[in-house]
Formats: sequence, C-alpha cells, structure tokens
Amino acid sequence: MGIKVAKFGGSSLADAGQFKKVYEILKSDPSRRFAVPSAPGKRFAEDIKITDMLYSCHKMASKGEDFQELFEQIVSRYTDIVRELGLDFDIRPALYEARDNIRRFDNPDYAASRGEYFSAMILSKYLGWDFIDAAEVIKFDRQGAFAAEWTNELLSQRLKCHRYAVIPGFYGSLPNGDIKTFSRGGSDVSGALVARAAGAVLYENWTDVSGFLMADPRIVKNPRRIERLTYRELRELSYMGATVLHEDAVFPVHKAGIPTNIRNTNRPDDPGTMIVTNHEGTQRPNIITGIAGHKNFTLLSIEKAMMNSELGFGRRVLQALEEFGVSFEHLPTGIDTMCVILSDSELQKHKDEIIARIEENCHPDSIEISGGLALIATVGQGMVSSRGTAAKLFMALAAADINVRMIDQGSSELNIIVGVDVKDFEDAVRAIYSAFV
Ligand code: ASP
Repeated sequence: MGIKVAKFGGSSLADAGQFKKVYEILKSDPSRRFAVPSAPGKRFAEDIKITDMLYSCHKMASKGEDFQELFEQIVSRYTDIVRELGLDFDIRPALYEARDNIRRFDNPDYAASRGEYFSAMILSKYLGWDFIDAAEVIKFDRQGAFAAEWTNELLSQRLKCHRYAVIPGFYGSLPNGDIKTFSRGGSDVSGALVARAAGAVLYENWTDVSGFLMADPRIVKNPRRIERLTYRELRELSYMGATVLHEDAVFPVHKAGIPTNIRNTNRPDDPGTMIVTNHEGTQRPNIITGIAGHKNFTLLSIEKAMMNSELGFGRRVLQALEEFGVSFEHLPTGIDTMCVILSDSELQKHKDEIIARIEENCHPDSIEISGGLALIATVGQGMVSSRGTAAKLFMALAAADINVRMIDQGSSELNIIVGVDVKDFEDAVRAIYSAFV
C-alpha cells in the first residue's frame, strides 16, 4: 500500500472540534502514515492565529516588554484543546519552557515555530503516533537557504524508522541548531518535503476549502471547482493571484511526480482538487482550467522608427529596469514598438529615473505611459492549440463591450493573457467564465 502524507492547515486545527475531524480523517485510511500540522489558526473571523500571537510575544520580548498576559492566551488555547480532547498530559511545563526561550533566544523564527511544535505534540499524543521534531530533519544552510538534498536524505532515513508519525510544519533548523522557518504559510512546504522523502503516492493538503475554484468567487457567483489541474497550470494561476498553496510547496512534489490533493477538513467527502504532472489519459470537463487576474499594472510603450533593426535595443530597455531592481511582467512587442508591462508597485519605486534612463540608453521617438491596466490570464494546458479558443475569448469580451488593451499569448500553449481597463476587470472575468463554463 502506498504512503499518503496529510498536511493540515491552521483552520483545520483551530480548536478541539477540528482536531477531532483531523483524527477521523487520519484514522479512516491506514495509508495516511505521516501528518504535518500547522499551528492552530482562527476559530472565528476576529480571532488571532497562534503564529501571530507568538510573533507578537517575540516582538514584546525583544523590546524588553512583559508578554506574560499575551502568552497566557496561547497557554489557554492549547490547554483547552488538550482538556477537550480528554488527553491525560500536562502541556504547560513545555509551554513555559518555550516562553522562557522566547525571552532568551531573541529569534522570531523560534517563537513562531512553537505554534506548529505544540500542535504536533498534541496531535501525536491524540493519535498515538510518534513525534518527529522538524528541527532534526528539515535543514537550512549557514546562509539560511533551504538545504533540499540534505533534508531529503535526513528525512527519508528518519521516516523509515516510523510506521506512523507527526512532523510539525513550517520550520527546520540551521547547522548550529537555531530554529529557522519558511515564509508564512510554509507548512505546505514541509508537507511537500515529507511527501517527497517518504516516496508518497499522494500529498494531501487539508484546508478549509474544497479545492481550487475556476474563478474568484468574489467576482463569479458559485464558480465551479477545478477537479484536476497540472502543476504548470497551477503555477500560472497562482502567479496571477489564485492562492491556496504556498508557491514553494509545488517544487518537491512536482519533481518527484507526486500528485497533490487539496481537500476540505470540514467536508472530508468532497474530492477536492487534484494537482497532477500531466493530463494524460483523462477526460477534461472544460477547455479552460481557470481564470485569474490582477489589477494595477502600467504599460510602457516605447516607439522608435526602425527599432527592429537596431541591435541591442531590447536589452538596453531591460537594462534600465534591472539597474533599478525592477522586474517586469510581460513584454509584448510590435515592429517599431516595444511594450513593457510592470506592476504599479514595482514601477512607482523609480518611475522617473527609469524613464530618464530609457531615454538616455535608447533615444526612442516616444515613450507613452498608460496606467490603470488589469491583466487576466485564462489558463488551460493545450487550450491554445484547440481551434476557436481565442476567438471565443475575444468574442465574449467584445459582446460584453470590453476593450482589450493588450494581448499576450506566448508560446506555452497554457495561457492567454489580456489586458483591460481596471474598471472592466470584473466584467471581463465574468464574460470569459460564462463563455467557457
Ligand atoms: N503557522 C504558519 C503561518 O501562519 C505556517 C502555516 O500555517 O503554514 O504562516
């Protein structure tokens, strides 16, 4: 029987009731052998995540302030869970030891990591599974960069010694033993690493939604769930704003050919979304997989007669951006025009200097700056090669009276990106969605 690794997000472990659901999920399938929990998240909208409280404790401690009162709130969240689960152990000594260490270590990562550490401790006792401290098996190098191969070796050796185990998410350690965390939401990454090291057949990522939706539900009413998508499609959709999974969680499992299944802890019978390496051999319900987009882009349109024959023109434009540390999003070009699409937040930092540098480097006939652009990506592997897709998309936009300001298809066959006025963004997403779904 293949191994499954199950990662549970903060809302899946927010209180004892949620821990019970997690228990049922894990015990209902013996192939779920390794669990990776997050720290308890919000129980209700105004609640505070344990991780955020721990960061605040560290901040107060580093300013020499007393954080006892705040820490007591953390203590009561964990002791409530332990009590309501009917577990016979006292978690308080370990919690107070962590409090003293937060005071002593002056390391925000140590403070934040305790959220996952105590979550895993409770879950392992509740399940009767072994506990593996992530600090022993997830490693960062001296510069603080994640050490993928070292981790994989340590972790795979270690997992072989345990039939069932809980490994806290979000953190690992530096060579000197200091705790280091991934960026926020990083338990997804830990789960993916455990899946790779275990040689899992499936990485289950349990959260509070039943998978990815084909469009933002704030824009499209009741969008369909994406049943299946590839890791490459996921990357395109996440880049354009659809977020469910931490970006760095994709690489380890994709590389190892392990599918990821996004599941809902509160609706465990929902099949969720399956993220796979390719669509081979499957029937797809829609030509497109999903639609995502972002507002607030600016188009720099640089014109110069005979630009196409001027060697190094493009390089000099991009050099101006690079000099000011600004990255661009897209680069549609014409014969005598080159357009650079930049996010407003990037451009604002050095707008005037960049324009001056392009003038100086390239002597263009004109540079036009037009803001207020929104980009919409319609994603689906192979969609670009299926006849009529582009026509359908543009007809839908025309029928909705939306002017397309930019088109970028690239050659990836994955994606058609259109730029529209910010005011048309929502209408455009709805028009594309109803044309295809
Ligand atoms: N607890 C951490 C955070 O809130 C990591 C995670 O939940 O994945 O960012």
